[in-house]
Amino acid sequence: MELYKKKDKNDNYKIKNVEVGKELLKIGGPCSIESEEQIIRIGKEIKNRGGNVIRGGAFKARTSAYSFQGLGIEGLKYLSEAGKVTGLPVVTEILDVRDIEVAVKYVDIIQVGARNAQNYVLLKELGKIDMPIIIKNGMSTTIKEWLNCAEYILMGGNRKVILCERGIRTFEDYTRNTIDFSAIAVIKQLSWLPIILDPSHGTGKPELIETMTLCGVVAGCNGFMVEVHDRPEIAKSDGLQAIKPECFGKIEKKVDKLQSFLMSESE
Ligand code: PEP
Ligand code: MN
Repeated sequence: MELYKKKDKNDNYKIKNVEVGKELLKIGGPCSIESEEQIIRIGKEIKNRGGNVIRGGAFKARTSAYSFQGLGIEGLKYLSEAGKVTGLPVVTEILDVRDIEVAVKYVDIIQVGARNAQNYVLLKELGKIDMPIIIKNGMSTTIKEWLNCAEYILMGGNRKVILCERGIRTFEDYTRNTIDFSAIAVIKQLSWLPIILDPSHGTGKPELIETMTLCGVVAGCNGFMVEVHDRPEIAKSDGLQAIKPECFGKIEKKVDKLQSFLMSESE
């Protein structure tokens, strides 16, 4: 039987202070790390506004080859500093097996993005390390295919896999992607793996983030990952979909209220 189907008694774990699957992962931060000062400044905002993980991209998988590609290893060092200053765990995306070794030195969680969800060579290597892996749904993966991607990591012995719904391509073009909320409910039926929602890439629209995040919690998500920037207008990537720290704080409070209500109802 596939490993994603059956939870083991040893599958509970913490990322720093956060008990994955029990508490919500509240991940915020910029699409790209732009400088040490920037990621520390925004990281502090995330912490002060109730976030429990800081995100920041150092290796960027940009659709255009001419767009900002990220600060690379330098960026990882800055992100790690933001983690030290705030005491929060940090997450970054890697694109290449050659970056695993350096990433494990600087971050607490590794992210596999939509464009690499079916990079089986990368997934197999990530199965060999002891670090939580957030794996997004691919640009065209079905739910079953996505779970099989997760299986590649689990198979190697790394059971700290977290799925992240980031929207799928449909004919709808008002939003950047279409968030597949049914996928969240389906995954909850097919798998024990925790799943979070990325409403930023899911919609591409800051004004929809709050509603989508709340819907994600209702659907059963174990957390959310949102792009946050204090100066979205000068962000080097995805500025148009970033929300401000104040907005992140507002959403975090509403999510907490909603989660408490849902927990009390399920008792
Ligand atoms: C990101 O999280 O910055 C990102 C590139 O996301 P995705 O892989 O979902 O496009
Ligand atoms: Mn982005």
